[in-house]
Amino acid sequence: MDLGQSRQGPRVTSVTTGTDTQPHRSGGRLAGRRVLVTGAASGIGAAIARRFAEEGARLAVLDRADDVAVVAGEVDGLGLVVDVIDGGAVTAAVDRAAGELGGLDGVVNAAGISVIAPLADTDEALWQRALEVNLSGPYRVCRAALPHLRAVGAASVVNVSSGAALQPLLNRSAYAASKGGLVSFTKVMAMELAPAIRCNVLVPGAIDTPMVSGSFSGAALDTVVSRYAMQRLGQAGEVAEAALFLTSHESSFVTGATLAVDGGRTYH
Ligand code: NAD
Repeated sequence: MDLGQSRQGPRVTSVTTGTDTQPHRSGGRLAGRRVLVTGAASGIGAAIARRFAEEGARLAVLDRADDVAVVAGEVDGLGLVVDVIDGGAVTAAVDRAAGELGGLDGVVNAAGISVIAPLADTDEALWQRALEVNLSGPYRVCRAALPHLRAVGAASVVNVSSGAALQPLLNRSAYAASKGGLVSFTKVMAMELAPAIRCNVLVPGAIDTPMVSGSFSGAALDTVVSRYAMQRLGQAGEVAEAALFLTSHESSFVTGATLAVDGGRTYH
């Protein structure tokens, strides 16, 4: 638990800064859009950053992990090493991203942690950690981004929640509460900020990322997969396609939506 880090003041590091010799497509579905993606060092956030760059977005990628430098290099974006529990650092990073990109048209909040523990083992520190990262993190990023998003006229927020927010999963009380809160938070934002800022939330099922491979293997992984009609894990790129739709103008009449990317989750 490293909540104390937030009291040491903002820590914002520019890992690399975009140049004009980049992989951005000039005519892509996000051409001209400037987007901040959190959790971009790994898994779903990294896939979103890569896909958005292919479609012409200019990117700032944020993560607590130094590895975000690798993804920043791949997408020729601005890399920011920031922990989303640190409110001062988040605000400084968002302002920096908007400054260097020349504005902000979109935010994707993918930074998150998995917490798997029965309630009896969920002490207050673990509970707070889940809420701090998975719910208060997106709140901090959205609040800091608000003036920048308001300034552009047609902006988008996509928050990455989880199927656990909507359907019961054993031993996920803290995780489900944090992700359920994120769904509610996003819906209220959508009401408040329409029509200029559309706000939508993704609820992925089990996706093949380090978050899942770090927790499940063998028979336990088979049990996870058996909950889905498609009988397989999703790929991070499949979640990225949904984030792309919600961030692009193709979803211009979609706000307050909860989009499941879960291969058909069943209730057993
Ligand atoms: P991942 O572990 O591969 O990536 C998560 C990223 O978030 C990592 O790079 C990590 O460093 C970053 N991060 C974690 N805490 C942070 C913090 N305090 N500040 C800044 N960055 C932080 O996991 P993933 O599967 O790509 O998960 C991405 C999002 O999708 C998470 O919010 C997760 O809850 C959600 N999700 C994942 C799955 C799944 O099956 N993989 C399913 C549903 C929802």
